[in-house]
Amino acid sequence: MSRKPIVGGNWKCNPAKLADAKALVEAWKEKGFDKEKVDVVIAPTALHLGHVKTPLEGLGMAVCAQNVGKNDMGAFTGEWTAAHLQDMEVGYTLIGHSERRSKYGETDEDTALKVEKCQEAGLKVIFCIGELLEERESGKTDEVNKRQLAAIIPKVKNWDLIVIAYEPVWAIGTGKVATPDQAEETQAAIRAYLKEAVSAEVADKVRIQYGGSVTPENCKELITKPNIDGFLVGGASLKPSFMEIVTAVQ
Ligand code: PEP
Repeated sequence: MSRKPIVGGNWKCNPAKLADAKALVEAWKEKGFDKEKVDVVIAPTALHLGHVKTPLEGLGMAVCAQNVGKNDMGAFTGEWTAAHLQDMEVGYTLIGHSERRSKYGETDEDTALKVEKCQEAGLKVIFCIGELLEERESGKTDEVNKRQLAAIIPKVKNWDLIVIAYEPVWAIGTGKVATPDQAEETQAAIRAYLKEAVSAEVADKVRIQYGGSVTPENCKELITKPNIDGFLVGGASLKPSFMEIVTAVQ
């Protein structure tokens, strides 16, 4: 099966001002891309999201939350629900980003509850998995990815709503990108696990992004690999040259 590539931009807690976010979107206008050939999904801060949604959609991009609550609405200060995102016409959310896992104590169980809520709301999820440096060095990469994925598998009824982002934690924001062979080998193992744990059909259709220090320069070789269906990009998505990554995969 040929899978449509998908490129995500995770702005994390950036930029400083709404005017900077708007200027970035304006700069992207100059380049353009073919939305028939690649899906582009941008995750601004929760505060900026509503303000840049229309300009991003004008470029053919979708908007994405960086996180979502694991509960329904109610007395959960600081949270929002998958249903709120649907109501605000935000079609995607990230779940399980390594910064949520390591800095906010998000567990596999939390990610599973969040995925369940998104499935109920019909919301698309970019589900992030990946190993720490010491886990790679001790040969545990595949075990970690399987454990993180296994947590959500029982919750997923509709795999069309799931994109997986393989993001080795040692490559996120470090400038140390996985080699194309490392990323391909790991992503092939993730797909093989989906085949074993879910079905051949799901393994074949689910898109797996690579994330971790992707740049306009290193993306070109990574995207030649058969199990890399696009990228989740952090730092490089805050620059006008992000569009070079988008156009490299289309
Ligand atoms: C990310 O935040 O998901 C990410 C991959 O960051 P960076 O591209 O900066 O490594």
